[in-house]
Amino acid sequence: MSDELKADGQGRSPRLWTGDFYNEGVNAHAGLFDKLGEECGVFGVFGHSEAASLSYYGLHALQHRGQESAGICVADGTEFNYHRGMGLVKEVFNNDNLQTLTGTASIGHVRYSTSGESKLANAQPLVFKYREGDLAIATNGNLTNAPEIKSELEKMGSIFQTTSDTEVVAHLIARSKHDDIVSAVKEALLKVEGAYAFLIMAQGKLIAARDPHGLRPFVAGRLGTAWLFASESCAFDATGGAYYRDVEPGELLVLDMKTGRVTEDRFSPIKQRAVCAMEYIYFARPDSDVDAVNIHSARKRMGRQLAMEAFVDADVVTGVPDSSISAAIGFAEQTGIPYELGLIKNRYTGRTFIQPSQELREQGVKMKLSAVRSIVDGKRVVMIDDSIVRGTTSLRIVNLLREAGAKEVHVRISSPPFANPCFYGIDTPSRTELIAAVKSVEEIRQAINADSLYFLSKEGLLSAIGQTNSEATRGYCTACFDNRYPTVVPDEAALGCGCD
Ligand code: SF4
Repeated sequence: MSDELKADGQGRSPRLWTGDFYNEGVNAHAGLFDKLGEECGVFGVFGHSEAASLSYYGLHALQHRGQESAGICVADGTEFNYHRGMGLVKEVFNNDNLQTLTGTASIGHVRYSTSGESKLANAQPLVFKYREGDLAIATNGNLTNAPEIKSELEKMGSIFQTTSDTEVVAHLIARSKHDDIVSAVKEALLKVEGAYAFLIMAQGKLIAARDPHGLRPFVAGRLGTAWLFASESCAFDATGGAYYRDVEPGELLVLDMKTGRVTEDRFSPIKQRAVCAMEYIYFARPDSDVDAVNIHSARKRMGRQLAMEAFVDADVVTGVPDSSISAAIGFAEQTGIPYELGLIKNRYTGRTFIQPSQELREQGVKMKLSAVRSIVDGKRVVMIDDSIVRGTTSLRIVNLLREAGAKEVHVRISSPPFANPCFYGIDTPSRTELIAAVKSVEEIRQAINADSLYFLSKEGLLSAIGQTNSEATRGYCTACFDNRYPTVVPDEAALGCGCD
């Protein structure tokens, strides 16, 4: 231990990380950081001669939602061309393979793996041949009754080639008594429960559908006369397009490749609207709007609210990059305490990172984050983070700040305690591994070595998210904080993202 650490005046012994290495991108579960696993991202194009290239840029902008695999399927009116591969969008696609993807409509996908299993068979879009021709499907989300439906279908003779929920929907469509794709999709979606944004291509049509609660975000955009669809609106900016509107919960938009017509339809009435609150807190990019609420602005309001609920006198405010920076700015604005870049993220520790020697194990966290000594040395620091999952990440970061000379570290979290697993496509540890499910706030404070700790109240969170949107578009899922799931959640529902 360094003299500086001994001299922190708090009588604490900093605990250094001695666990696994950070190895982002290879396997999300092997990460040094215990952040929540993200989901998947979908991107669709209709009515543009460069559908594949636009999809490439759109998926690239959605890369934060999944790094395991990427794929694009393009339709030219008669047949499908597709390419899928393991890895990042820029690794899977190049000029040569993009040029083979000719067509004016496309659906694309980036996948986050929850099982740790890297299988090309699970990469999306999934493409099938069925009695009516080709069928391609890409989804973001998780179907809570997929295991049940799958087992029934298997009893009836269906053979599954992937472990994906998406294939369950493909079988339901293929087995439908309806010949036309729109009726078959509606019938299939009425049988499934859960959270999803689907893009489906078949019979010369592209179909976009969002679950009846609106749990997963799904937006429509325009680029000239072309239509775009994406998990997040930041993908439209990457293509030169613009946000048009949200796909409504329970809505089905049908785009006909022969006529160019767009039909607004529904497969279900809107049930209790329950947009994932964690999208606002952590998952979505700050430049995205989810249900008409800008993510950066919502996070800033969370920071302001946090300051009102749990002010602490300090010298600097810093945010854990990247997702907590907006909330840290809000906290600083509200309190007048200067915002500083006390923590810096190293952006180049990704997939090619080689595991260092045993002696350097405890240095692993520093490959990813650095505390800026000249900013925090001798200072009382307020550290804003978006959530605490297992608690190990927070402990490491607090210790980084102490090692860099911080006199006090006060942790403020811009969400309520995360105490319940997600069944809707977010990869979460089991309930017993969630620190907030097994420890009090004071016990967590001790576990993460902080001088003080406060979590944003649920009321504060909801008011921060919903301040700017209309009554009609308010309604959020907060189940991971309050254990109130908007759908029936069967015990046997597989945790994690059904994209794999
Ligand atoms: S349980 Fe939490 S992470 Fe899952 S959809 Fe609801 S708010 Fe989002």
